[in-house]
Amino acid sequence: MNLILLGPPGAGKGTQAEVLRQKLNIPSISTGMLLRNAIEQGTQLGKEAEGYIAKGNLVPDTLVVDLLKERISQSDTKNGFILDGFPRNRAQAEQLDTICSIDKVLSLEVSDADIIKRLSGRRVCNSCGASYHTVYKPSKKEMVCDNCGAALSIREDDKEETVLNRLNVYHSQTEPIKEYYQLRGKLYLAYGQEEVADTTKEVLRVLGLE
Ligand code: AMP
Repeated sequence: MNLILLGPPGAGKGTQAEVLRQKLNIPSISTGMLLRNAIEQGTQLGKEAEGYIAKGNLVPDTLVVDLLKERISQSDTKNGFILDGFPRNRAQAEQLDTICSIDKVLSLEVSDADIIKRLSGRRVCNSCGASYHTVYKPSKKEMVCDNCGAALSIREDDKEETVLNRLNVYHSQTEPIKEYYQLRGKLYLAYGQEEVADTTKEVLRVLGLE
């Protein structure tokens, strides 16, 4: 199954992608994570992407589409994949349709006020990609990853003014693609709940995966 997870930054796409990865045994692919890795490794692409990410703007389509194409051509995607953070605009959605066929698109619905609350407490592991929250999903040991023991950090683009811009970018550029998929009969909505486990139940229910 080829799945897309849509939703504003901090809606819990990464957390639900991890649940679905385990349930469906297909890889979850986060373009944000691929870009952050490229920046950390100091690649040419990383250097080009860095300024856009720091401001909370979208990285140019050509860079991201090439990165995604390369990733989904790898053999571990033969039974499907979960996309977290791609596509982010209509041009990317159209390009994706020329590369592969998408089965379902799940949109995680969370209000802006809740997003701002959530992102201020987000902590991430740059080593394995796990995501935590100081209130909603704390790690067992403060600032240490439960999965791999690496130090947790706060994402540079989770600062408040950058978050507000990322929300604007989401509403103006990404949210309109819900209609693109709705018209194709592929859109499913799940409403983010206070408890992660409740959101997971909702996600599995709407996707018919209970
Ligand atoms: P994320 O981890 O999905 O929140 O992505 C972090 C940042 O990476 C975004 O704010 C964008 O600057 C960039 N990014 C991630 N995915 C894409 C994409 N599909 N198109 C353009 N920029 C992206």
